[in-house]
Amino acid sequence: MNPLFANIPTTIFEVMSGLARDTGAINLGQGFPDDPGPEDVRRKAADAVLNGYNQYPSMMGLPELRGAIAAHYAHWQGLDLDAGTEVMVTSGATEALAGAILALVEPGDEVVLFEPMYDAYLPLVRLAGGIPRFVTLQPPHFRLTEEALAKAFSPKTKAVVFNNPLNPTATIFSAEDLALLADFCRRFDAIAISDEVWEHVVFDGRRHQPVLGLEGMRDRSVKIGSAGKIFNLTGWKVGFVCAAPPIMRVLAKAHQFLTFTTPPNLQSAVAYGLAKDDAFFEGLRGDLARSRDRFTAGLETLGFDVIPSQGTYFLNIDIAPLGESDDVAFCRRLVMEHGVAAIPVSAFYANGAVKNVVRFCFAKKDETLDAGLERLAGIV
Ligand code: PMP
Ligand code: GLN
Repeated sequence: MNPLFANIPTTIFEVMSGLARDTGAINLGQGFPDDPGPEDVRRKAADAVLNGYNQYPSMMGLPELRGAIAAHYAHWQGLDLDAGTEVMVTSGATEALAGAILALVEPGDEVVLFEPMYDAYLPLVRLAGGIPRFVTLQPPHFRLTEEALAKAFSPKTKAVVFNNPLNPTATIFSAEDLALLADFCRRFDAIAISDEVWEHVVFDGRRHQPVLGLEGMRDRSVKIGSAGKIFNLTGWKVGFVCAAPPIMRVLAKAHQFLTFTTPPNLQSAVAYGLAKDDAFFEGLRGDLARSRDRFTAGLETLGFDVIPSQGTYFLNIDIAPLGESDDVAFCRRLVMEHGVAAIPVSAFYANGAVKNVVRFCFAKKDETLDAGLERLAGIV
C-alpha cells in the first residue's frame, strides 16, 4: 500500500458530515446548499438523459460546453479563450487539480502553497513528488506579504497552487496581492494553478479577477472552475480547466487516464446554464449574500466574533475570545453537545499554525440557519 494514502486521515469534510449524520446535528460544516438548485438547469440534465446524452462524449468535453465556458469567461471576466484549444471539461475541480499537479510537477520540484489551503492540494503535491513550500496566512485578514512570498519562491519553484476566493477563509485576494503573486510567478518562471471555483460567489459588488488575465500570466496559468459551485449543485462534479495550448496538451494527457470524460447530460445542462443572463447569476449571489448577512447578524447577536465573509459559502468565527485554543476540540463539542457541525480551520494548515478559527457554511435555508443559531445560543 502507498503510505501516502494509507497514512493520511479521512478528509475533514467527510468526518464532520459523518458525525452530523450519526448525531442528527445540523450540518453547517461541509460546503453544500440545502435547496435543490435551479430547476431549469436540473430539468435540462434530466431531458438530456432522455434524449440521447448517454454515451462517452469527446475527451475534452462536449463542444457545446467548451464553447459556453469560453463565452461565459469572455462575458464575465474579459478573457479571450479559444474553446477548441484552451478549454477542457473535467469531472469536478478536484480532477482538474489532480491532473494539473500530476502533469506539471516533477519529483523534486518545489510547489508554493498558501495555507490555509484546500485540503486536496498537499496530498496531490506529495503524490507528484513535489516539495511543498508554505506561505502561512494569518487571521483575521489572511493577507499575502512580499516577505512571505520571497521566502517561499526559489529557482526550484515549478508552480504555486492556491484558491481565490479563498476557502476556508472567505477572503478575496486584492488586485495588489494578485499582481504581487503574478510578479513572483514571472520572476521565478512558475505556473499559477489557480483554483477559482468560487469565482461567482463574491459579495458586496466585488468582481472576480482571474490570474490568467493578468499581464504576462496567459501562458503560465491554469484556471480551474466548477459548475457545482456556480449553480449550487455541488454533487454534479463538472469542472473546467483553461490554459494556453502548450500547457493544455499536457493536462489533457493526465485527464485521459484520470477520468477521460464527464457525464454528458450534466455537461449539456451546464452549457445551458452558463449562457443564462446576468440577472440569474446576480440573483444566486444575492441570495447567498442575504444568507451570509442573516447568519453573521445571528452569530454576532449571540456574542461570537465573526470574521467578515467576502465570498464563498463560508464565514469564520474567532474562538480565541471564548478562551478556546483548540478548534478541533471546539468543533467536536459543537457537534456532540450542541448539535451543530462546523469545520476546524486548522485542518487546512499543514502544521496546525492557526487553531482559533472555525468555519460555518451559510448556504442554507433561513430555517436551517435559524435552527443552527438557536443551538449555538448560550455558548458565549
Ligand atoms: N477547490 C475548492 C477551493 C473547493 O472549495 C472545492 C469544493 N468546494 C473544490 C476545489 C472541489 O470542487 P469539485 O466539487 O468541483 O470537485
Ligand atoms: N469544498 C467543500 C467544502 O469546502 C467540500 C468538498 C468535499 O467534501 N470534498 O466544504
